[in-house]
Amino acid sequence: MFIVMVASELAPVAKVGGLGDVVFGLSRELEIRGHSVEIILPKYDCMRHDQVWGLGVTYQDLWVPWYTGAIHCTVYFGFVHGRKCFFIEPHSQDNFFNRCAYYGFTDEHMRFAFFTKAALEFLHKTGKRPDVIHTHDWQTALLPVMLFEMYKFQGMDTPRVCHTIHNFKHQGIAGANVLWATGLGRPDYYFHRDRLGDDLNTTAINFMKGGIVYSNFVTTVSPQHAWEARFTDQGYGLGHVLHTHQGKFGGVLNGVDYDMWNPETDPHIAERYNASTIEQKYVNKDTLRERMWLRKEFKPIIAYVGRLDQQKGVHLIRHAIFYALERGAQFVLLGSSPELGINNEFWQLKHHLNENPDCHLEIGYDEELSHLIYAGSDMVVLPSLFEPCGLTQMIALRYGTVPIVRAVGGLVDTVFDRDHSGRPPEERNGYVFHHADFPGLESAMYRAIGLWHEYPEEFRKLVVNGMGYDYSWNRPGQDYLNIYELIRNK
Ligand code: ADP
Repeated sequence: MFIVMVASELAPVAKVGGLGDVVFGLSRELEIRGHSVEIILPKYDCMRHDQVWGLGVTYQDLWVPWYTGAIHCTVYFGFVHGRKCFFIEPHSQDNFFNRCAYYGFTDEHMRFAFFTKAALEFLHKTGKRPDVIHTHDWQTALLPVMLFEMYKFQGMDTPRVCHTIHNFKHQGIAGANVLWATGLGRPDYYFHRDRLGDDLNTTAINFMKGGIVYSNFVTTVSPQHAWEARFTDQGYGLGHVLHTHQGKFGGVLNGVDYDMWNPETDPHIAERYNASTIEQKYVNKDTLRERMWLRKEFKPIIAYVGRLDQQKGVHLIRHAIFYALERGAQFVLLGSSPELGINNEFWQLKHHLNENPDCHLEIGYDEELSHLIYAGSDMVVLPSLFEPCGLTQMIALRYGTVPIVRAVGGLVDTVFDRDHSGRPPEERNGYVFHHADFPGLESAMYRAIGLWHEYPEEFRKLVVNGMGYDYSWNRPGQDYLNIYELIRNK
């Protein structure tokens, strides 16, 4: 099969969060299984050019219709760790992708509507006819709309579209100008509630809703989150449209790239290990302590690695730090936030705890350091308010680091409580709490820290259970292929 991914992120060349990891990991898995995969991305000025091999111009004059004129683009081709990638660079006053950041601008919907249109135009002009185009999140959700309302009638009538929603919170809400810019036009038609009309704001169109209505299949990134999106407020107003289209909607758990995340081969950690050489993990613990100025004490290290976003339960992360210190554990944090308020709060916290020999907060993004943290810590804490899938807990499990998580989204599908899960003991791999409040968090941390101190052999069993799980792309890769086959034959 020939599959084209159209996305706003790809790890490690242009990664902000899990979306980038998923696009890379899934593409790689599909190629391993013998399918042809190409990825189309914006050419951001801030992307990590050092992660692209052989970058060069492949298509010089791509003219993308925009409003009543057209924008001239250059398309580059390069390999990102073996993946075939096309990067679209528009040349216009708007400077869509030359802004030293991936996201966070007031004309965000225009930037990505343009990118999506340019991706389709590129496929059209080059005569590429993928069996499946896989789009991701609101940024590329207009692709099926434009494909089936415009490009289909210009000869692109074979590709099918699978759209994956990684985060329902950001939906791409825009006005009629997007319709005029992309050539879709006809506001009366698209503002209709059965198409792109936003259910909460009748004067707006909703990109993500368009993706749901027009795609041949829609997924979100875990079975539990698929349920939450339909039946709870976590669909952020899209529950109704998901219900209408339930026959083509489902949850596929993300995988983790086990090539990149493998304690047996990881170049970023001090000592490599697996489930039968688990003692070596503790060399990493020592290295982590040295790197983070923590004292060497008989204490577990609890970590948080991730974005510092309201979604992640920032008030609970903050509480976890103090509770860990109080209960005889050490704490390391690696995270950053685009929100100034949250960033400042954690900088203040860092200063406040600066002298504490049991705690270190690293504010920023550091891929290499994250590997050492996963390897050197005993536990990770994830008190998310919502979590469509979550990669952190799956990476942690792979590194023999016990996850302490809130029972939400993909965390429910991947972490099974040591004391309360209905699963057999050998399948239990962490700690789970339900209420997003201090007592809830404390109940799980108390049990985890207690087991580490009082029953080290039992704790070790939990570590080994976790390492035995296969959260690679193996199974989700097959799940997506099944979906592609299903829609291709429709
Ligand atoms: P989300 O997509 O909501 O950000 P996920 O758990 O799905 O959360 O994916 C987060 C990914 O990003 C993980 O691979 C995690 O290790 C990585 N990550 C997040 N923040 C940082 C950071 N500050 N430094 C290094 N890696 C980070």
